Amino acid sequence: MNPMLEIFSQGEEIVTGHTVDTNAAWLSQQAVREGFTVSRHTAVGDKLADLVALLQEIAQRADCCLCTGGLGPTQDDLTAEAVALAFGMPLQLDPKALAQIEAFFALRGRPMPDSNRKQALLPKGSLRINNKRGTAPGFALQHQRCWFVFLPGVPTEMRPMFAHKVLPQLHQRFSLQPSALISIKTFGLGESAIQQRMDTLALPAEVQLGFRADLHEVQTKLLFPYGYPEAAMTDLVAQVVGLLGDTVFAVDSPTRQSGGMTDVVSQLMTQGQHTLNLIETASQGLLASLCGGADWLLEARYGQSLAKLAKKQGQTEAEGDSVRLAQQLAKATPTHSPATWVLVQGFDGDHPQFQDPSQAITVHTLLLADGRFHQSTHTVAGSHKRKQSQAALLSLDVLRRVLQFGCYSNPSDETGHTKLRRYGLRLLDKNPQRATA
Ligand code: ATP
Ligand code: MG
Repeated sequence: MNPMLEIFSQGEEIVTGHTVDTNAAWLSQQAVREGFTVSRHTAVGDKLADLVALLQEIAQRADCCLCTGGLGPTQDDLTAEAVALAFGMPLQLDPKALAQIEAFFALRGRPMPDSNRKQALLPKGSLRINNKRGTAPGFALQHQRCWFVFLPGVPTEMRPMFAHKVLPQLHQRFSLQPSALISIKTFGLGESAIQQRMDTLALPAEVQLGFRADLHEVQTKLLFPYGYPEAAMTDLVAQVVGLLGDTVFAVDSPTRQSGGMTDVVSQLMTQGQHTLNLIETASQGLLASLCGGADWLLEARYGQSLAKLAKKQGQTEAEGDSVRLAQQLAKATPTHSPATWVLVQGFDGDHPQFQDPSQAITVHTLLLADGRFHQSTHTVAGSHKRKQSQAALLSLDVLRRVLQFGCYSNPSDETGHTKLRRYGLRLLDKNPQRATA
């Protein structure tokens, strides 16, 4: 059975909702990935009695507890004091911790305020966890059933401390049996459509299926228990990839995280040494902004409509449907080298239609790549913001499909296994229990 782990966040600003508890979410993901069962998240304000009571409860019911916050120098930072009271471990000065805090200030040429001395007071018998990025050291200790880890609240300090100091300790102290999570990322199929396709597959009872959807992608998640045979896992993932077809843009495993569609496109553009000139309309600059900073994006232009852009460019034939205009603009766009591609996005509909959530627009994307046109047409409904972001993603998806499959529509005879190879995916390490971030 997996060890039980709780997450405990300290701070009035968490309880009142002024700070979103991203620490709990992040730590939970790490803990689950490593093979813990996360049983509870609790947030407590700056009240000593509440903190003491909670620590004493957790000591009896959990095997491990990850706490963040309340280690700072101010009066509302009560965590170490609460630990001292709850577990009868009086605070004592840790000279190394004090030296580290002094060095932190010395490096910045500032005198150390007296209040920071407080951060070097650690519960007697606890194990110090050095903090290279801030003044608050963390600490860890065993009390009754539970191994407690206390880390600062600031995420940029807490995360590296967890990754470099805490994780190795957890591996030493617990016998962890992580499950393997495979996420198949798609764009262009809704959750219900995916569910329908998945219904045709007989999933083994021990494999858990889940979905996570947002505007940018739908993730179909397969959670395999520890020790699940690798060949069977690859087979099942390949079957799912086959079912979801060319909407799949990435497959993530414990050892491989590919990011979102923009990251996938960016990587493929760089690998293929392609460059792009971009003309966008409906996405209103969002497409360029998503790819912002990428050195393969040579030039980006935004116009309210293709007709206006064509007129501005002095094209006499600035009339006609969006696709023809897109073709004219693409052909007229200078390419700086043989590798340059041109993507032109247009839409049918006027400004009021675009703004009106009850009306749809039709978005056309035309990609001129290596002398060939690839085209897609989609209807987009919803708010102005939704139309904008869907237009950006739909155009990006044309680029992605051409990069991954060499054409807009994927040949239907491709098996899931062939596709898995295209994603460059080796599902797992030889040693599946060690996932790397
Ligand atoms: P400090 O030395 O900065 O006082 P600390 O360990 O006492 O560190 P807190 O005072 O509780 O931490 O929080 C410092 C800042 O870290 C908060 O203002 C907030 O921005 C961020 N923070 C704290 N807890 C969390 C949390 N659970 N999730 C996300 N951010 C947090
Ligand atoms: Mg603080």
